Order: sequence, then C-alpha cells, then structure tokens
Amino acid sequence: MEIKFIDNNLKIDEGEYNDNINVARHTAADILAQAVTRLYNKAKIAAGNVTDDSFYYDFDNLDIGQDDLEKIEAEIKKILKENQKTEIFSRTKKEAIEYAKKQDNKYKLDAIDNISDDKLVYFFKQGDFVDISDHTHLMYLKSVGHIKLLSVTGAYWKGLEKNKMLTRISGVCFSKVDDLEAHLEQLKQAAKRDHNKIGRELELFTTAEEVGQGLPLFMPKGTKMLQILQRFIEDEEEKRGYLLTKTPYMAKKELYQISGHWAHYKEGMFVLGDEQKDDEVFALRPMTCPFQFMIYKAKIHSYKDLPIGYTETSTLFRNESSGEMHGLTRVRQFTLADGHIIVRQDQIEDEFKKVLEFIDYIMDVLDIKNEITYRFSKWDPNDKVKYINNPEAWDSTQKIMKRILDDIGLNYIEADGEAAFYGPKLDIQYKNVYGKEDTLITVQIDFALPERFDLYYIDKDGSKQRPFVIHRSSIGCYERTLAMLIEKYAGAFPEWIAPVQAKILNISDNQLDYAKKIMQTLKEQGIRVEIDDDTETIGKKIRQAQLEKVPYMIILGKKEQDQNMISVRKRNGEDLGLMTVDYFVKNLQDQVKKQLKK
Ligand code: ZN
Repeated sequence: MEIKFIDNNLKIDEGEYNDNINVARHTAADILAQAVTRLYNKAKIAAGNVTDDSFYYDFDNLDIGQDDLEKIEAEIKKILKENQKTEIFSRTKKEAIEYAKKQDNKYKLDAIDNISDDKLVYFFKQGDFVDISDHTHLMYLKSVGHIKLLSVTGAYWKGLEKNKMLTRISGVCFSKVDDLEAHLEQLKQAAKRDHNKIGRELELFTTAEEVGQGLPLFMPKGTKMLQILQRFIEDEEEKRGYLLTKTPYMAKKELYQISGHWAHYKEGMFVLGDEQKDDEVFALRPMTCPFQFMIYKAKIHSYKDLPIGYTETSTLFRNESSGEMHGLTRVRQFTLADGHIIVRQDQIEDEFKKVLEFIDYIMDVLDIKNEITYRFSKWDPNDKVKYINNPEAWDSTQKIMKRILDDIGLNYIEADGEAAFYGPKLDIQYKNVYGKEDTLITVQIDFALPERFDLYYIDKDGSKQRPFVIHRSSIGCYERTLAMLIEKYAGAFPEWIAPVQAKILNISDNQLDYAKKIMQTLKEQGIRVEIDDDTETIGKKIRQAQLEKVPYMIILGKKEQDQNMISVRKRNGEDLGLMTVDYFVKNLQDQVKKQLKK
C-alpha cells in the first residue's frame, strides 16, 4: 500500500484543494472520528469514506441524535485549531492485529484481516488519534478547510442487512466558507423538492414497515400518475409498431442459467426455494429479456419478419441492499417500460436510431432534454467475472454502437466497465436535485443472448441466421420517472400529468347540485376533477387546493350558477374569470396536447 501526503502547510490554495477534494474529505472523516472518540469514549470507530459530494464515518456504541452534531462540530473546530501534523507508520500484520485486539475493535480487526499476510499495515496518527490508513492524507489538518456535519443516520456494517446497524455521521467540507454556505443553501432548496418528502405530502405514495424496505405503496393519486404515463407510453409504442407481451413474474432457475443471470447476477435476485432440497427452484425476474425471447422462439421467423419489437410494461425485482433504498429511486420492485427488438445485422443502425428518436421525443415531453447526458458504457476486458468473455464480439459491437452515436452527432462520454454483462449500452443520465446522477434509460446492443437462447431466423437462401437484440426502454422505470417529475416540478405538475387537473370549489351549499353537475360534465370529457364540498369558507378551500398544487380551481357561486358558467383560477393565483365549461375543457385539452408535443 502506498501512503501519500499532500505536502502543504497551513494553506492549500483553492485550485490545489479542489484537485484534491477527496483527500480533504477523507481527512475530514478522520477528524470527525477523532472528535467523536474524544467526546464519547465508549464509541468504537468502524470505517469512514467519501461520497460524490460528502464524507461520513460509521461508529458502533454511539447513541446520539441530530442535536449532538453541534457539540461534535465544536470539538472539530478545536482539533483544527491545534493543527496537528499527520504521522504515518507501519506495522506487521501480526502487530496490527495485536493493536486492534487491544482496542477491542472488531471492525478494525476485520479491515486488517483483509490485508494480505506479507504486506505491512499502515497507520496514521494525528495528535491523540490513531487509525489504519487507506488513503492519502493532508499533512496539516487545518488545510481541510471548513467542515459542516449534516446528518446522523443508521447504516449496516459493510451495507449488509445481516450485520449490525451502526451510527453514521455525514458531513461536507469546503475550502472557502462562501462555498460551504452556497452548498448548504443548495441542499436547503433541494430538500424542498425531495420526492421522498413531497411525494408523501401530496399523497402519491407511502411505505409501511410491515411491507418492507424498497417496496413503496402507491396511493390513488400516485397510481393515477403511473397510469397516465403507462397509457401514454403504450400508445406511443403501438404507433411505432411494437407488439405487446405479458409474461410471468418468475421462472425456474434453468431459464436464468441459459441467460447467464444465474452465473452473473444471482445475488441480485430473489430466489424462491432451496437449491439443495427442492426439485424446482424459482426466482423472481430481474429483467424481461429471457421471457420475450421465449415468445420469439414460439414460432419460426423469416428474414422478412424482422425487425420484431416486443414491449411490455414489466414489473421486475432486484434485491438491492437495504442501505441503498431511497424513496422511489432505489427500490426492490419496479416497473420498466421494457422492450426487445430482434434485428438482422443490417438493421441494427436503423432500429437503434429509431429507438433514440423515440427517447428524444419522450425526453421532450418530460421537458428534460436539456438536463440529460449520454453515456456510452463499455465493458472492462479485465473483469472476467462480470462480463461474457468474447473480446471479438465486444470489439465489433462497441464499434457499431460508436459509429451510430457519432453518425447522429450525439454528445456522449465513454465509460469503461459500465456495460451490461452481455453487451455495450447507451445510458441516458439525469442529475437529481441533489446533483446525484442516475440512469433513466438504457439501450443495449446484445450479441451474446441470441446465441445462448439459440434465437434464429431463416434467411433468403434458407439458412439459419443469428439475429441481434436491441434491449431498450422508452421512459425507463416508471417509479424513477415519477420521482424525477416530482422533483422537477416540486409537485406542481403540468396539466398532462397532474393527477387532479381541476378542483371544484362551491361557495355555499346552495351551489352543491350545480357543482356536482359541472363535475359530471367534466368527467365525461375526460378531465380529472375533484370537488371540495366542505362547508369551509371559499378562502380556505382555495388555500387547500393551492397546497395540493392542483392546476385549476373552478369556483362556483350564485353568479356562475345563474349564468350557467364557471369561474376559473390558476394555482399561481391568476384569475382567468368567467367562462363556459366547453371553453375551459377545450383550453385544457389544447394545453395537454401542446405539452405532449402533438
Ligand atoms: Zn433486456
């Protein structure tokens, strides 16, 4: 192990700091651990690390809450004032084990155990604090800049549910205090849009401990939004010639042995049954491909039949570790607008381009065309465990994909080791409100599974030929798309996707019958409408509808009833005045059409 220092004294200039931001974050985590052990002498340090924009350290035997962070921050400030110099020293593995035993720290013992016997174990010492070193250090602690602790949460040791739940303290550090404050402000703004918060407040979804982590329950309004999305996508796919399938949620292990999932993805699947004891072992499906391949194989196809595009609104199951669960974005069961296009080699380019055009249209409707980036994900030739070992096929498929991307002038970045195990993919990446990047959609070119499933078509000359498969989605996974929409609009959805488009507010009970009549008329025209017939004042009803972020409020009093008209207000307070129901419906429908780019 190589231990390095960033050689600096009291000051590290900004450029240097930003180039070595992860060194600073690692050091911040060490300082946090030092502060905690000073304040809580029973606490055991487990492990720390850095993330995309923060750092954390996990502790055992530490029972604290959010309120205690201030005290720890004060201790951190004290440590920074002392400005200790970091020292590095090494011990043999045996000596290191002795040390960890003396500390009675099983986490450090575990970490040392993972170091091979012939290697030295490196430690670092900053003042009164000693820990195993596995990263580059700042030589003087003060150069770490400004530290702010953000949260206390639970985290399983090594992220595994079977392990003990530890206490995780997370924080951020910045060179300049202005940058720190700007970041904290950004977090504050992001929290207001957090789908996990707003989605619950707007009664779109909920969760229940009895059901389990990563298994959201969609409430009526959230389900309505999913239905709108699904109908929209299925109609658009039908227009583009896709054929619908409906296939089982589970299959025998033999199917996954053919696909390679049993060998490459078993730990990510929910297996039903015991391989040692049971004749038949099943697993919930993590993807749709093997099932749609069986549909292709149910009859013989000629070269004239291709391309064949199958699509399915497909519920899938992946056993994510519980540490990674979050709202609707990290879940164990999700629904993908999944599909597979079976093509001849000479059709790959055209079909791939059509898929991208389709996605481009969807991104336009979702209004995120300017917020997505494209990532060309390639294999890692050195990773023999993750990838099917066929270098020639990888090479030629990646070349085809690169040519297509260059041809249509797509602006993309290349990423090694991000491909699926059976082929390269194009990932459509989206940054959420916290700046964290997620994959919304992937399109893959597959050379491997057609071989494994013995897919073929009969060519002009009567010979059997191997097709290629394009795995694709059009909108990605519905749950994640919904999360994205919630955060993008902070819950104030545009008309086309709003679960309730208009809310009828009657001024007094005298207009109740009229209000019900208007509601029925609107419903018959396909408008999603609700009525607030409480005996509250109209002011209160308006405020409530605004809280629910309903796009339009239809206010009905004596004047409206007498003239057989309605008064309309937008959720932003704009008064659209008196109008006929027909006029309102026509305008709303036009608005929806415009949003759907029709
Ligand atoms: Zn697939």
